Amino acid sequence: MAHFESCWQYLTTHFSDFQLATIGSFIIHESVFFLSGLPSICFERTGRFSKYKIQKKSNTPASQEKCILRLVLYHLCVNLPVMILSYPVFRWMGLKTSLPLPHWSVIFSQIIFYFILEDFVFYWGHRVLHTKWLYKHVHSVHHEYATPFGLTSEYAHPAEILFLGFATIVGPALTGPHLFTLWLWMVLRVLETVEAHSGYHFPWSPSNFLPLYGGAEFHDFHHRALYTKSGNYSSTFTYMDRIFGTDADYWKLKTLESNRGKAL
Ligand SMILES: [Zn+2]
Ligand SMILES: [Zn+2]
Repeated sequence: MAHFESCWQYLTTHFSDFQLATIGSFIIHESVFFLSGLPSICFERTGRFSKYKIQKKSNTPASQEKCILRLVLYHLCVNLPVMILSYPVFRWMGLKTSLPLPHWSVIFSQIIFYFILEDFVFYWGHRVLHTKWLYKHVHSVHHEYATPFGLTSEYAHPAEILFLGFATIVGPALTGPHLFTLWLWMVLRVLETVEAHSGYHFPWSPSNFLPLYGGAEFHDFHHRALYTKSGNYSSTFTYMDRIFGTDADYWKLKTLESNRGKAL
């Protein structure tokens, strides 16, 4: 912790709170998003790890490039201005940058709370996005990729980008976190959604070890199915879909696949 605190002191003495909360958050987000999202594009192009690929179909290099270009455009023209304009809101909700850094138990419990709340808000918002008008005019952009790869996780209509941003900050807005906790939350949420869209289910994928965690297979089904029947609306966990019965088609398919596997 002492090492983190000396790094943190360096940042807070060389940069203003505004610079750290806006430009700093943007740089961290872009670095983590593109670095974690690019491997699945490389795997698709080279055929590496093809036995772990969830769908047989692959995206063309042209469609992958279209996704990257659109993301760069939206991140610069939507995400960055939103981060700058919402700075007063973050200040108002009690964002701190001072030392000492919060205790690990506080960071851990706040981040668990953010994941649970984000998943809840995302589940209901996502169900609304699957109603006819909103799907046609907004959410169909995200579903352009029926075979997702990591970077498609943030490929969405600007209105949906705003909704995703809202779902992400509603937890921090309630707890008034330290900027360090907010950055860690942002990094984990990006890694989670990139993994869910990666298109690969590895033996080391987190859904093999974490109970109630959705992961790539769970969200991949959502992209494959027809929009009225897709189900699996949650972002991180599986229990909301289980409670409200929106995972029935997914589990039917899983049972069918495992029975077919046993028969062979
Ligand atoms: Zn959807
Ligand atoms: Zn998706």
